[in-house]
Amino acid sequence: MDPKRIAETFANDAKMASQGEKIMRAVIRVGYFVNISRPALAKELQQKLNCTIEIKDERPRIECTCGYEGLPVKDGDGSFMLKCPKCKSSHIRLIAGDCVVLEGIEV
Ligand SMILES: [Zn+2]
Repeated sequence: MDPKRIAETFANDAKMASQGEKIMRAVIRVGYFVNISRPALAKELQQKLNCTIEIKDERPRIECTCGYEGLPVKDGDGSFMLKCPKCKSSHIRLIAGDCVVLEGIEV
């Protein structure tokens, strides 16, 4: 994902939501499996909004055909993998941790 394009969208959304008031802080939630540079996104957005940018990491959540729902398998180095910890299947559905959203703003 391109941090520049995401920042542009979020900056527009934030300005719309603030209705012309000065934005003090913007909170962005970035999913664990989202392939984007967090520092680059924060920097781009900071330049556009001139306010404090808070980036929150969203933990991944999966749903498996075996009925399991929750965190996926953790690798030896502590990183999550797209696998079910209960039945070890990789035929899972990612229900959280795959998107980046503008969670809110403070004016
Ligand atoms: Zn499973």
